[in-house]
Amino acid sequence: MATATVFITDYIISPDIERSVLGGNISIECLNNEDESSFPDSISEADALLVWHASITEKTISRLKKCKAIVRYGVGYDSVDYRCAQRYGIPFCNTPDYGINEVADTACGMILALTRKIFAYNHAAKLFSHGWQEHTQPPMKRLTEHKLGIIGAGRIGSAVILRMKSFGMDIGFYDPYVASGYEKTLGVQRFESQEELLEFSSIVSLHVPLNEETRWIVDERFVPNLNYNTTLINTARGKIVKNLDVLYDGLLSGKLAAVGLDVLPDEPPLASESLIQAWKDPDSPFYSRIIINPHTSYYSDQAWSEMREKAAENVKRILEGKEPKNLVTS
Ligand code: NAD
Repeated sequence: MATATVFITDYIISPDIERSVLGGNISIECLNNEDESSFPDSISEADALLVWHASITEKTISRLKKCKAIVRYGVGYDSVDYRCAQRYGIPFCNTPDYGINEVADTACGMILALTRKIFAYNHAAKLFSHGWQEHTQPPMKRLTEHKLGIIGAGRIGSAVILRMKSFGMDIGFYDPYVASGYEKTLGVQRFESQEELLEFSSIVSLHVPLNEETRWIVDERFVPNLNYNTTLINTARGKIVKNLDVLYDGLLSGKLAAVGLDVLPDEPPLASESLIQAWKDPDSPFYSRIIINPHTSYYSDQAWSEMREKAAENVKRILEGKEPKNLVTS
C-alpha cells in the first residue's frame, strides 16, 4: 500500500522520472490541470504537491489537510502564494539550480546575435540581388567597445558575466543584495544604483526574480535612462517589463537598438501588439532587431530531466522527514 500520495498539478502526464525518484511506495496523481478552481476533492489528501504552471492560492492551500510540502518545478515562484502556504505551516520550495547554463547561454546567444547583427545579415543575404558583401549595417561596435550591464547578479546573471568576460567586454552589475566584494570575485564593476548601471551600459540583461520590487522595472521611466542604441535582453520574467509598447517605443526613439526576449509580459503575446507585428514583418525596420523565444531558454534534454529529478528528490526528502532544500522564506 502507498505510504503517501504526491499530486502533480499540471503539465506532467507521464510521471516516469518522478516515479523512479519517489519509488514504488509513493503514489502519484497527475491532475493535468492548470486551473486550481477545478482541482478534485481528492487533493485535500495530498502529502505533497508538485506544481508546474498552475497558480496555487489559498483556494487550494486551505484544502490541504496533511500536505508536507509544495514544490515548484522551476525557479520563479510568482505563481504560488508561498506566504499563504507559510501561514498554513506548509513549506514551499522552488527548484533553482537545473537550467542555469541553458538560460545564461541563451542570454549570451541573444547578446551576440543582436550585437553582431547575425539576423540582419542573414535576412540581407536571403534578399540578395546584387553586391553580396556590400550590405554592411552600421552602426556596429566591436564587442570590446560594448559595456554589458547585468541587473541581478545571482546564479544566472553571474553565469552570463563569466561567459561574456571572454569576449573582452567591460562588464558591471547592479544587485544590492549580493555580498560586498562579490564584484571582486567576478572581476567586474559594481554599481550602487540602477541608474548608474544604465548610464554605463550599451547592453542590459535582466536576471532578477519577479516580485513586488522588480515588477515593471522596465517602464516608461526606465527607457529614457538608457544610452541610445542599447540592446536589452530579458530571459528572467516577462512582467519585469511593463508592456511591449514600452519596448516598441524604445526602438522607435532609438534608445533601444534591439531586444532579445525569452519571456513576455503576457505569454503568448497578442498578435495586435506593435512589437509583435514588427517582429513578424520582414519589411519592418525592426524585423531583425527583435528576437522572441517562447519561454524556452531553460530547456535542454539534460536540464528538463534534472529539473524533474531535483523537484521529486526534494519531495522525497521532505516526506522522509529531512530538511527541505531551496525553502522559500521571503
Ligand atoms: P537568483 O535568485 O539566483 O538571482 C537573482 C538575483 O537578483 C539575486 O542575486 C538577487 O539579489 C537579485 N535581485 C533581487 N532583486 C533585485 C533588484 N531589485 N535589483 C537588482 N537585483 C536584484 O535567480 P536566478 O536563478 O539567477 O534566476 C534569475 C531569473 O531568471 C529569475 O527571474 C528566474 O525566474 C528566471 N529564470 C528564467 C528561466 C527561463 O526559462 N526563461 C529559467 C530559469 C530562471
